[in-house]
Amino acid sequence: MNAFAPPSAPSSSRAHAEIDLAALRSNVRALRDRAPGARLMAVVKSDGYGHGAVPCARAAREAGAAWLGTATPEEALALRAAGDTGRLMCWLWTPGGPWQQAVESDVDVSVSGMWALREAVAAARAAGRPARVHLKIDTGLGRNGCTPADWPGLTAAARAAEAEGLVKVTGLWSHFACADEPGHASIAAQLEVFHEALAVAARAGLDPEVRHMANSPATLTVPESHFDLVRTGISMYGISPSPELGTPADFGLRPVMTLTARLALVKRVPAGHGVSYGQHYVTPGETTLGLVPVGYADGIPRHASGTGPVLVGGKWRTVAGRVAMDQFVVDLGGDSAEAGDEAVLFGPGDRGEPTAEDWARAVGTIAYEIVTRIGVRVPRVHVEGGVHG
Ligand SMILES: *Cc1c(COP(=O)(O)O)cnc(C)c1O
Repeated sequence: MNAFAPPSAPSSSRAHAEIDLAALRSNVRALRDRAPGARLMAVVKSDGYGHGAVPCARAAREAGAAWLGTATPEEALALRAAGDTGRLMCWLWTPGGPWQQAVESDVDVSVSGMWALREAVAAARAAGRPARVHLKIDTGLGRNGCTPADWPGLTAAARAAEAEGLVKVTGLWSHFACADEPGHASIAAQLEVFHEALAVAARAGLDPEVRHMANSPATLTVPESHFDLVRTGISMYGISPSPELGTPADFGLRPVMTLTARLALVKRVPAGHGVSYGQHYVTPGETTLGLVPVGYADGIPRHASGTGPVLVGGKWRTVAGRVAMDQFVVDLGGDSAEAGDEAVLFGPGDRGEPTAEDWARAVGTIAYEIVTRIGVRVPRVHVEGGVHG
């Protein structure tokens, strides 16, 4: 590809994240094929992992996602405000949260303990309709979820509230700790605890609509974890949950986000020229420097200083010196370039650009964090199929 071609649309932007909704739909279909016996929940928390929750939710629905999932109730209510009317669940509650609004908006809520059940019941009374509740068991993640010790009490209390018409237990669910490490002993152990929890709930008289446990890595590699519903986040955005599991292409997935900036300045400098705060990079010879107008305020990790990869003029360049709040510099090694030229930070990789996974490796994190942290100052441009075809 020719990096000296006119920059891609929107041609006037400092930087933008192109979001390929056709790729997202295709990913949803590929994931549904992986879990043929289950329905799919498209996880669109944290603004759709940085891809834009509303357009991604809409595209996922079009591709057959029966459920949407968010972390916070505010995220779920925002989807309702945007017009979504399908099954929708959120799981990260705190006391005093918008329980009543959730019940009135037909949002399924997660309950991990008695305090939450009490809030759901109070909300149901106020709303004059039952709260749809997914009871969560901690099968070993040690994060949210009811302990196995408290589970008989929680399921019995939920059943009593159900008998009073105040709640409907629509789901029983849990979450994996190490599904991205194939064969990890905790996977089978958590499944066993979940099966026991389901049996306890059945003895309490609960008959949920969906039992669910699988995140992306479990959806891709642990079929016995699929139950009635799989909750896919990162894979839907075309990113492998872990490089050890395989590449996106191995699973028929295609990265959805391409992050591009346009050079703000190109200049020739002599050897020995310090670059950016601290002057941690010094030009080894006479060279050209390209100024990339995005920085840590845009979600470019400051840890990418000296390591982050960028495609400019058909070649991989590395962040020279520190990433600043709004900009960083690449050493173009004497190549000619001009202000306005494209600098592709990451994308699907088929134009030779780095991927979000390459950035994750460069900065010692996971690709989840790379895409999710892209800041609000970077416009998301939703396209079909990508402007680059
Ligand atoms: C974020 C999240 C998911 C999705 O995980 P991925 O690995 O991105 O597929 C599923 N379930 C819960 C509870 C989550 O918090």
